[in-house]
Amino acid sequence: EILPVVKVKNICCVGAGYVGGPTAAVIAFHNPNIRVTVVDKDVGRIRKWNSQHPPIHEPGLNEVVRVARDGTNATKVFVEGDFTVEMPARKQNLFFSTDVAKCVSEADIVFLSVNTPTKMTGIGAGAATNMVALEGATRDIAIAAKPGAIIVEKSTVPCRTAQIVRDTLEVHRPGVPFEILSNPEFLAEGTAIKDLLNPDRILIGSSRTKAGLAAAASLEEVYSAWVDRSRIVTVNLWSSELSKLVANAMLAQRISSINTVSAICEKTGADVDEIAKAIGRDARLGSKFLKAGLGFGGSCFKKDILSLVYLAQTLNLEEVADYWMQVITINEFQRNRFVKRVVANLHGTLIGRKISILGYAFKKDTSDTRESPAVEVVKSLLADNPSEIAIFDPRCNPEDVKDEIKRLFATTGLKLLKPDGPIEVYKDSYEACHDSSAVLILTEWDQFRYPPLKEKDSIFHKDAPSTVAPTKPTLGRTPSELDILHMMTSSRH
Ligand code: NAD
Repeated sequence: EILPVVKVKNICCVGAGYVGGPTAAVIAFHNPNIRVTVVDKDVGRIRKWNSQHPPIHEPGLNEVVRVARDGTNATKVFVEGDFTVEMPARKQNLFFSTDVAKCVSEADIVFLSVNTPTKMTGIGAGAATNMVALEGATRDIAIAAKPGAIIVEKSTVPCRTAQIVRDTLEVHRPGVPFEILSNPEFLAEGTAIKDLLNPDRILIGSSRTKAGLAAAASLEEVYSAWVDRSRIVTVNLWSSELSKLVANAMLAQRISSINTVSAICEKTGADVDEIAKAIGRDARLGSKFLKAGLGFGGSCFKKDILSLVYLAQTLNLEEVADYWMQVITINEFQRNRFVKRVVANLHGTLIGRKISILGYAFKKDTSDTRESPAVEVVKSLLADNPSEIAIFDPRCNPEDVKDEIKRLFATTGLKLLKPDGPIEVYKDSYEACHDSSAVLILTEWDQFRYPPLKEKDSIFHKDAPSTVAPTKPTLGRTPSELDILHMMTSSRH
C-alpha cells in the first residue's frame, strides 16, 4: 500500500540544546526546501544560536549552522572528518526563535527535544524521569499546533510516554487529529555532526494504524534526503522509546565491564589494554567501548540506566532492576578507586598539596560538564583537604566552570573557590600544573596525550615523586610509582 505522505514544508524543533540545535541544523542543511525553526524559552541560548558563537561546541557545527541559517550565494564544500558535502547556493532555511507558539503553529512536524533529567528524589535505586519540561512543552504544542501536525519525541523518554503526549493533546484539543512518533536521537556529544550526517540508523516508532504509518513515512521522507533508506528502522512506539534506554544502558555496561577487569589486572599483572585488544578481535564482541578508565559521565548514561531500573521496579522485576543498577555501582567503585590511588601515591594525604586537574568536560571535543567524572573526583579530593585544586580544560570557559562549582556546592554553604576556598580555574595548563604534587588527566583531550613531561622539573613541586608516568592510561596497569596519574574517561553516548 502506498501511504499518503504529507509534503513536509515546515518543521519546528522545541528545545535548542545539545540535541535540538545540531539535529535541526543537519535536517535544514540537507533539506533546503524545508523551513526549520528551533525554538527555546531560554532567550540567552537563542541569542547565541543567532550569533557567530553557538552555545555548544561541536566539531563541524558552526559550518553546518552557517550554511543553513545564513544561506550561501555560491557552492560550498563542507568537510567534516571523512565527509565532503557539496552544497549549492541556497537561501537561508534555518531559524532560531523564542516565539514557541507561533513557530509551532506553522509546523507540519514538531520535534520535542527538551531536557528529561532524573528526578532528584529517590536516586540510588532507580529514579523516575523528571517530565516537567516535556509535559510543559507538550502543553504548549497541544495549544498551538495545527490540526494534523506530527509530534515527534526526540527527547529520551520512559517507555509509554507517547500515551502521555497523546492524552495531553486530547485534553487541550479534544477531537483534533495529531499523530505521535518516537524518533530517539543516538548522537554522541563531541561527534554530534559526524553522527548526524552518517547515522548508524534512524529509528522511527509509530502506532501501527494507517495514520501512524503515514506519519512515519513523512518523517522518513525528511531523513531520506541524506540517509539511505536501508538505515531507517521502523518499529512500534514502545519499542522505539525503550530501544534508546537499552542502547545507552548496554554501552555503559561495556564500560563498567572492562573497568571491573582493570581492577583484576592491577592485582594480577595482566594488562587491561592488552585484554581489550585481544577480546576486541572477536567479531562477536567488537573493539569499541573497551577502554578502561575513570568510568562514564555525561548527562545520559546514568540517567537512562536509572530510568530503566525504575521501569523494571515499577514492573516488579527486582532482579532485572538490580542487574542494571550494578552498572552504576561499578562506575562509582572505579572512580573511588582512582581517588584512593591518588591519595595513596601521595603518601596518604593531600593536606598542604596542590593537585592539578587537566580536563573538566565529561569527554573530549565537548564543553559539556554535566555529570562529568571530573566533578565527582573534585568532590572526593576536597574531603582530603588539599591546599589547592587547580582546574584547566581547553574548551570549558573558566567562568562557566566557576559558576557550576558555585551551583553544585550552593546547598552546603561552603565557599570553595579561591580566595576563600581551595579551587582555582586556570586559562593555561602550565599555570595550572605549576608547583603541583599530582596532575590528574581526567578528559581524553588530544592535547593531553603527551603531557609536558620534559618540563617536569620546572613546573612540578619539589616533593613530587621522581618517576614519570607513561603517556597512556594507567589505571589498568600494575601500580607503579606515579606522580602523574594519567587517566582518561571512556565515556561516549
Ligand atoms: P538541553 O538541556 O541541552 O536542551 C533542552 C532545551 O530545552 C533547553 O535549552 C531548555 O531551555 C529547552 N526547553 C525546556 N522546556 C521548554 C519549553 N517548554 N519550551 C521551549 N524550550 C524548552 O538537553 P539536551 O542535552 O539537548 O537533551 C535533550 C533530550 O535529548 C533529552 O531527553 C536527552 O536525554 C536526549 N539526548 C541527549 C543526548 C546528548 O548527548 N545530550 C543524546 C541523545 C539524546
